[in-house]
Amino acid sequence: MPFIFNIQRFSTHDGPGIRTTVFFKGCPLACAWCHNPESQTFEPELMVDEERCTGCGSCIAACPEGAIARDAAGRVVTDRARCTACGACVNACTGGLREIAGDQQPSASALARRLLADRMFFERSGGGVTLSGGEVLAQDGVYLEELCRTLHGEGVHVAIDTCGQAPWGSIERLLPYVDLWLFDVKALDPDVHARYTGLTNEIILSNLERLAQVGARINVRVPVVHPVNDSIEDMEALTAYVTSRLAGARVSLLPYHATGNGKYQRLGREAHGGFAAPTDEQMERLRQLLIDRGVIDVEIGG
Ligand code: SF4
Ligand code: SF4
Repeated sequence: MPFIFNIQRFSTHDGPGIRTTVFFKGCPLACAWCHNPESQTFEPELMVDEERCTGCGSCIAACPEGAIARDAAGRVVTDRARCTACGACVNACTGGLREIAGDQQPSASALARRLLADRMFFERSGGGVTLSGGEVLAQDGVYLEELCRTLHGEGVHVAIDTCGQAPWGSIERLLPYVDLWLFDVKALDPDVHARYTGLTNEIILSNLERLAQVGARINVRVPVVHPVNDSIEDMEALTAYVTSRLAGARVSLLPYHATGNGKYQRLGREAHGGFAAPTDEQMERLRQLLIDRGVIDVEIGG
């Protein structure tokens, strides 16, 4: 069964209306700018806010693996190679500085029940449920189909937020139950895509075009990251692609932000650090460029 690292209620960013967004853990890509790095691996993972640690040592005694100790300077440090993400230190830390990302593993029916509790908000706002990640389509297909079928059967609007790196069959089995595909396009150049995400984009673009061909409702989401994909040439290529292959798709330009950098620290990893957040004026210029070149429906954010 998939691991879930967050269920965010009352979201207004991942599709229409008020939504509950489910974040599944694990992704086939490793985007260098990822602002949810805890989503990348498929297993639960320990996160520690070492900067705020008081050094009380409660977690050292609690760890059954002997993974926590003091270093030569007396700081409390965790040996992640020995950590099994058991969560004992989370309960021991009175400061709430330790957490396990991905510690929820509900069955599809239990998750659906939990999500349906917010149905009143969905109905009043035209909202629904968004499945996100990590990568939704990298999770167990039987589980996803049961979850989407149940929600759809209850009249809930279902959106899937995907990087698109999946066999077409994983998408096809969900088509009858999904109302909206929030589909990331990170770079059209396959080499650029591979350099910054770890994989080329042939499967991704093929899936996107097949979705368009079968008449699925698509919102193309482009994370705008300097220097990856924010040049005039990049936007012109995007315009040509959308107008020729995805006519009618909404395009959302999502400005890069560095708010995820603290999470890398808490995971004991280094953030990439080589990216710049665009200004509001830059985003508006890019939006206007797409509109001027013929993309009808363009928004910033979303
Ligand atoms: S999660 Fe478990 S194994 Fe990992 S450091 Fe904490 S107590 Fe030790
Ligand atoms: S229990 Fe929390 S505050 Fe105490 S040493 Fe461990 S991480 Fe630091």
